[in-house]
Amino acid sequence: MVQSKIVVATSNQGKLNEIRALLTDTNWLILGLSDFNLQDTTIIETGTSYLENALAKATNIAKLTGILTLADDSGLEVNALGGRPGVVTARFGGPLLSDNQRCHHLLKLLVDVPKEKRQACFRAVLAISVPGGLNFAREGILNGYVAQDLRGENGFGYDPIFELQDGRTLAELGSEKQQISHRFQAMKAIKKVLRELDHD
Ligand code: IMP
Repeated sequence: MVQSKIVVATSNQGKLNEIRALLTDTNWLILGLSDFNLQDTTIIETGTSYLENALAKATNIAKLTGILTLADDSGLEVNALGGRPGVVTARFGGPLLSDNQRCHHLLKLLVDVPKEKRQACFRAVLAISVPGGLNFAREGILNGYVAQDLRGENGFGYDPIFELQDGRTLAELGSEKQQISHRFQAMKAIKKVLRELDHD
């Protein structure tokens, strides 16, 4: 049987690792942008929603590679900031900050916000683009809180300051994150689409 190929349209190594892990129980051969020498390709995220951005990434890379493409657009929404940073999470605080600096930037903004008002959620939209064909998208959400400090060594991005109901941050979880995350929820739904495409 010929193995079907899928390219993951992200240059974010943290996302790529998680997406690869979430697809290990499928038959898809997972390729990255570097397999097409496209690792330096930046798709400007001008959309006003995760959906728009995820579809833009998926359709652009599908056009360039001619291969079924999966893209992720995600972000952190903080209640005390009226849902910010949202779609601009990756650039929050300035374009050149490290993940660690972005976490500190957010903690500073929330310094006077008490624990019970620190609710937040991660949202992820996964989009699939079939070259010359249809596009699909599914969303996942993870509810939690913004912690008071950075804790844990695992994961990426804002994981050290995203606290679950039980008090642990995502960065303290390890592989358990893969059974609860916003990306896991979206992937569960997108796998149904992939199964149907694989049967076509
Ligand atoms: P974008 O989807 O490339 O626009 O970037 C998403 C932003 O949200 C980046 O700053 C990520 O670090 C952050 N982000 C998305 N998902 C996660 C996650 O699972 N853990 C931590 N940060 C995340």
